[in-house]
Amino acid sequence: QTKSRPYPVFLGDGIIDNVGEWLLSVCNNPSKILIITDQTIKDLYGGKLESVLKAFDLDVLTCVVPSGEQSKSFETYYKCLTFALENNLDRESVIIAFGGGVVGDLAGFVAATFMRGIPFIQVPTTLLAHDSAVGGKVAINHPLGKNMIGAFHQPHAIIYDTQFLKTLPLLEIRSGFAEVVKHGFINDRSFVENLMKTIHSLNHVTSEQLQWFIRKGIEVKAEIVAEDERETGKRAFLNFGHTLGHALEAELGYGKISHGDAVACGMLFALWLSEKIFRKDFQYKSTKNWFNEIGFPVKIDENIQTESLLERMKKDKKTVHSQIRFVLLEDIGNPVLKTFDTHTLYSFLNEWRT
Ligand code: NAD
Ligand code: ZN
Repeated sequence: QTKSRPYPVFLGDGIIDNVGEWLLSVCNNPSKILIITDQTIKDLYGGKLESVLKAFDLDVLTCVVPSGEQSKSFETYYKCLTFALENNLDRESVIIAFGGGVVGDLAGFVAATFMRGIPFIQVPTTLLAHDSAVGGKVAINHPLGKNMIGAFHQPHAIIYDTQFLKTLPLLEIRSGFAEVVKHGFINDRSFVENLMKTIHSLNHVTSEQLQWFIRKGIEVKAEIVAEDERETGKRAFLNFGHTLGHALEAELGYGKISHGDAVACGMLFALWLSEKIFRKDFQYKSTKNWFNEIGFPVKIDENIQTESLLERMKKDKKTVHSQIRFVLLEDIGNPVLKTFDTHTLYSFLNEWRT
């Protein structure tokens, strides 16, 4: 298995001014720069990134896509490619993904496939993007399934300016924070303890705190991915909280609950189940109180049937022979894979819910 080249991660507050310099340090003499961004980011910060790059005499173009998950579509992907071809991008061109995970996945897939692959740089603007920008998975959705059409394509650099996160709505901060917590649970006990001790609200997180979250999150994800680039073993641990989380998202209808809120709820169940299976104390109760304080949902809406959730989990692409794979914790920071048959999981989930 080939290991991909390491790439730099620049993280700081107000570092956008350095993008030109850093871009040139990782991409030699680019012919053109194509910024792919969404409408929200364009309105808030579009001019800024362009002008920083133009100051370096770079030939900069911007392709704006609608904000939201809908842009991870064949249609938008095709429009980006057409834009690139009409504007004579070539193999020496560089794509910048300027936005959250949607733009990162879309622009990354454009970069992976345009002329069999050209360099791209991630300039993330959401907290969740600490997760999506690392790992090299890029994709668009098919009407029959999320992220079904994609590639592995590593960025040449990630340039993460926490200044952008100041305009990110609370719901989106919380959604990204769930993945931060997840990275702690699967890799670093003391990080989780520190979070629980110091973070009691996400209303006024400072840029120092955001940098702390992002640095840790990227570190954990990068470490796991480096050991397992093509998703065979350890990478499965990143799915902590996601088996139930995905089912919940699908059952409620996408957009009704944020990805992070659904994952947080899934993590709570996984924590409860870990206590049960391993007969250990994982501070489930205090974690539940903490989640509540942060604003995460700590129980599943009563209108949702346990049966329907089980059906969803069975259909998950990670489920094999209707044995549902679950990431549990042997210890905080020490994940383990367990498989359950539908029946057993049904009773556990029901017990947790009542
Ligand atoms: P997103 O990119 O849609 O951003 C969320 C919303 O916030 C959008 O409306 C966006 O316009 C807005 N926004 C972004 N930055 C902003 C800012 N600074 N200020 C104000 N508003 C801003 O969503 P996301 O949560 O960043 O990413 C979700 C996507 O990431 C999903 O499609 C998911 O599949 C993908 N993902 C990919 C991976 C991977 O490994 N490739 C991992 C996790 C998630
Ligand atoms: Zn996730």
